[in-house]
Amino acid sequence: MKTCYLCKGIVELSIVDVEVGGVIVKDMPAEVCSRCKEKYFDTRTASFIQEVAGCVAEKKKEYLIEKFKTAYKIKGAA
Ligand SMILES: [Zn+2]
Repeated sequence: MKTCYLCKGIVELSIVDVEVGGVIVKDMPAEVCSRCKEKYFDTRTASFIQEVAGCVAEKKKEYLIEKFKTAYKIKGAA
């Protein structure tokens, strides 16, 4: 039986939603402490979450840049 590093509570496998930098990655397997709710991810899950969050953040940035460009073009033409 695994125990929590923080409070020594019992850690159980569960499916959770993770929020990284404003991006929510749903349905991730994690070991969750039954006492303090601390989440533990394995290396593969952790890197997957980082990858998804990074990808979304990058796309969002591109999208916003495009939006601003379009906005400026419209302003300039008017
Ligand atoms: Zn704990």
